[in-house]
Amino acid sequence: MKFIADFHIHTVASGHAYNTIYEYAQAARKKGLKYIAMTDHGPAMAGGPHLYHFQNLRCLPEKINGVRLLKGIEANIADLDGNLDVSDDNLAELDIVIASFHQHLGYSGSDKDKNTRALINVIRNPNVRIIGHPGNPQFPLDNDAIVEECRKNRVLIEINNSSFTGVVRLGSHDNCVDIAKKIKKIGWKVVFGSDSHCIDTLGRFERSLEIAKEAGLSADDIVNTSERSVREYILKA
Ligand SMILES: [Zn+2]
Ligand SMILES: [Zn+2]
Repeated sequence: MKFIADFHIHTVASGHAYNTIYEYAQAARKKGLKYIAMTDHGPAMAGGPHLYHFQNLRCLPEKINGVRLLKGIEANIADLDGNLDVSDDNLAELDIVIASFHQHLGYSGSDKDKNTRALINVIRNPNVRIIGHPGNPQFPLDNDAIVEECRKNRVLIEINNSSFTGVVRLGSHDNCVDIAKKIKKIGWKVVFGSDSHCIDTLGRFERSLEIAKEAGLSADDIVNTSERSVREYILKA
């Protein structure tokens, strides 16, 4: 399966990632990617960028080395009401917003009902395009409710390649297969993200692909596989 886009990468701006956006764009071109999304951690992350980083992304070009650059954020879910660590006015200026649960950055997780309620509020935020790594067992969810809410609001669920490399979010496999199966059943889509913190892992989706295949998904169900689906499901009108 061929992939033309990686919508989840962290640059030096995140504080614990090691390449610049120009280095990523160069690597992306070599790897045959046409789109990359710069999605540095929101300001609540220790060592993460100040709000000014996101406000000033407009000074970067639309394309670097012929690779289309989407200027975005991986925002942190801050509370039960689904607020994020950047205001809606600022999020609206960005090309792409991933929203993710991360512990100790506002909302550290609770029982399934509360996590589901928080995430449904996030999904209803019209600035949010992607829910990052939702299979994390530290944040149990009502998968049926989440998947249905995503379809209704045209928000994509990420199958995050880094969740299966044995370093973070251990135990995500079964949840992610379950979520992917439910997405297939209701006719919605998934998005792959490498969650790269250096260029070596850019565009690497081997583990995400295993999950997708286990759940019966094909290329048509994964938005990273064609220009048409990137335009339809990711790019702002
Ligand atoms: Zn990170
Ligand atoms: Zn994350």
